Amino acid sequence: MARTALVTGGSRGIGAAISKALKADGYNVAATYAGNDEAAASFTEETGIKTYKWNVGDYAESKAGIEKVEAEVGPIDVVVANAGITRDAPFHKMTPEQWQQVIDTNLTGVFNTVHPVWPGMRERKFGRVIVISSVNGQKGQFAQVNYAATKAGDIGIVRSLAQEGARAGITANAVCPGYIATEMVMAVPEKVREAIISQIPAGRLGEPEEIARCVAFLASDDAQFINGSTISANGAQFFG
Ligand code: NDP
Repeated sequence: MARTALVTGGSRGIGAAISKALKADGYNVAATYAGNDEAAASFTEETGIKTYKWNVGDYAESKAGIEKVEAEVGPIDVVVANAGITRDAPFHKMTPEQWQQVIDTNLTGVFNTVHPVWPGMRERKFGRVIVISSVNGQKGQFAQVNYAATKAGDIGIVRSLAQEGARAGITANAVCPGYIATEMVMAVPEKVREAIISQIPAGRLGEPEEIARCVAFLASDDAQFINGSTISANGAQFFG
């Protein structure tokens, strides 16, 4: 029987590429999003993948949403915690709101996404938890104290979950993308983007599909013994 995969933020950017790659590998896929109904509708039309709207920063919403997905699509075997935001500012200008929004979405959002599916994975003795972290969680980044804290936190989460889940057939791993050509990165001013590219030995941004293939591998049976790891995919920008 086909396994079921849930991808948060799975309707746009890296998440959309992950949703499509998992569907191509035969999973029943459900993708979530926060509020961009138009993008979600055109994604469903293009791919046939069902989308669900909830805020990953809210535990009750996440739990209810996940129950709905499990009732409509199937018990979740693979969960990809991908939804994420940036609210960049140099530390002396960063507001408590900017700090909290990023913590709520990128860090608490991972707890809220994985916690409701964990008991089912333990019961069924199979699970794949894949968290999309970032090169900036590995190395830190100017004006991203909030974001880097959450992405470093993701690595701590998977290393701990790996130890708790290993005997129950559950693996937990992180993927750390470098700069990828999505709306998040294309939204930065061109000059800044050129400066970013000049620091990438590969001389280019990564493609969402290159991250999706890492995720598809971690989700596969072949990756059963890979647990608590971090896959860096950054064009040689940083060795973490
Ligand atoms: P995008 O901005 O292109 O897409 C973000 C997705 O997350 C959207 O589907 C969005 O929904 C959803 N989302 C945002 N906030 C919430 C929320 N509170 N609840 C539910 N869903 C939410 O992002 P990217 O594809 O660029 O990034 C995906 C992940 O990869 C993020 O975790 C990011 O930090 C990480 N990453 C990205 C890199 C890059 O270069 N792009 C580099 C390294 C890591 P909606 O469409 O409704 O807005």
